[in-house]
Amino acid sequence: MSSLRTIGKWFFRFCLLVIFLAAFTWLGIHVSRAYYLRQASRPPSAFIVESGPLIALTHARVIDGTASPAQDDQTLILKNGMIAEVGPSSSIQVPASARSIDLSGKTVFPGLVMLHEHLFTISPDTTPTKILLVEQPVSFPLMYLAAGVTTLRTTGSIFPQADLAIKTAIDSGQRPGPDMFLTAPYLESNPLLFSQMHAIASPDEARRAVDEGAAEGMTSFKAYIHLTPEELKAGIDEAHSKGLKITGHLCSVGFTEAADMGIDGLEHGISVDTEFFPGKQPGICPPDRAAAKDIDERLDIESPEVQRLIHHLVERHVPITSTMAVFADFTDDAQPMSALEDREMRALCFKSALIYRILKAFVLPKIVMHHAMPKEMQFERDFVAAGGLLLAGSDPTGDGSTLAGYADQLEIELLVKAGFTPVEAIHVATQNGAVALGQSDRIGTIAKGKQADLVVVTGNPSTNISDIRNVDLVFRKGVGYSSARLFGAIKGLVGVQ
Ligand SMILES: [Zn+2]
Repeated sequence: MSSLRTIGKWFFRFCLLVIFLAAFTWLGIHVSRAYYLRQASRPPSAFIVESGPLIALTHARVIDGTASPAQDDQTLILKNGMIAEVGPSSSIQVPASARSIDLSGKTVFPGLVMLHEHLFTISPDTTPTKILLVEQPVSFPLMYLAAGVTTLRTTGSIFPQADLAIKTAIDSGQRPGPDMFLTAPYLESNPLLFSQMHAIASPDEARRAVDEGAAEGMTSFKAYIHLTPEELKAGIDEAHSKGLKITGHLCSVGFTEAADMGIDGLEHGISVDTEFFPGKQPGICPPDRAAAKDIDERLDIESPEVQRLIHHLVERHVPITSTMAVFADFTDDAQPMSALEDREMRALCFKSALIYRILKAFVLPKIVMHHAMPKEMQFERDFVAAGGLLLAGSDPTGDGSTLAGYADQLEIELLVKAGFTPVEAIHVATQNGAVALGQSDRIGTIAKGKQADLVVVTGNPSTNISDIRNVDLVFRKGVGYSSARLFGAIKGLVGVQ
């Protein structure tokens, strides 16, 4: 009898302890979240470490964004947010009144111009059949800037008013973040996976959606998976009538057909082109698993039809946006996340990352592609070799572990893995992006007269591309932000509602 009572007593104590620990953890998460939300919501001045009308960056290695070799021992003079001088340290006179920063051992390259970004991520409440997206208004702008992204194009919006508000807050100097070119809500006619997307029902509706987006201040458009050929054509023509561009993540329409309709860009590369799928019906998106499997197992990049497509895209001046970082999750040959990102992920996405990893490991049906990544890499190399304009972006969605900023850096690393030299990969992520946005006379390269959008890293990315992750300073319009302060302020905020 007494031993039963003892067991009962200990069981009661054990339950109390469990309840106490759970309450303590819950409280800890919420208190730290409130703290970081306040930290991350501070004005730009909290993250700025270098500012002033005249700044000299001396003895730096410069990668100028044009794909030229890195130049050692260079000095840059930044004046009123612009690059006033750049050249060998021996020939550049540093004005006495300049704030001088010695960058010996460091490398400067142009601020990244990334072309497939989002201001939302995957919600932890997502199921395998319904993906829920959540806006990341506080954390993502900071993460982009912290990783060296000074200009981005969103590529599909779910919360257009929130995107506009974020852009306005950044442009007016209330919040830190990159310069943003916003894309209107997705043009999609059958949003199977995404319940938050509006379904376009006719070519007329596609035209109206373009008109509405343009009226709200969106500067580009994105056609999505199930848009019919007629709706796509209507969307393209309407965007062009306003002098605006439209890109696509397509499926019901193949790349060749879309290029002939006049589309201005194609997202993700050959991995999503369905035109070579056996039995492809005009205007119908084949089942996604079968299409992915066909590309993974059968498609040959060296085949005459794929090579013909590449030359067709080049002739039609249709850029391709490489988004290999988001594919990495679905391939077995991709690089694992860096140790740094992994650690940050655990700390900052406590809820979403942890749940995702458990779901991914044990619950979600895993699509593993064995050959798709090397094929995508070969396609992108051949496209560039043929004269095509390759762009880069992170597409921070995937399985929820593709994160703004970090994934932009991973994308550049994957370009090098694909066979581009480090300076070529940086060129794709800087000058090419600026060209696609029509901004190349202002940003994307390091040259006299350009805007002082610069990334300062420790090390030498021209020999070790992963040194792009060692960001010290990010200059946007000549104002230097501390990457560590930006990244330091977002713990616990990503992916959490
Ligand atoms: Zn996307």
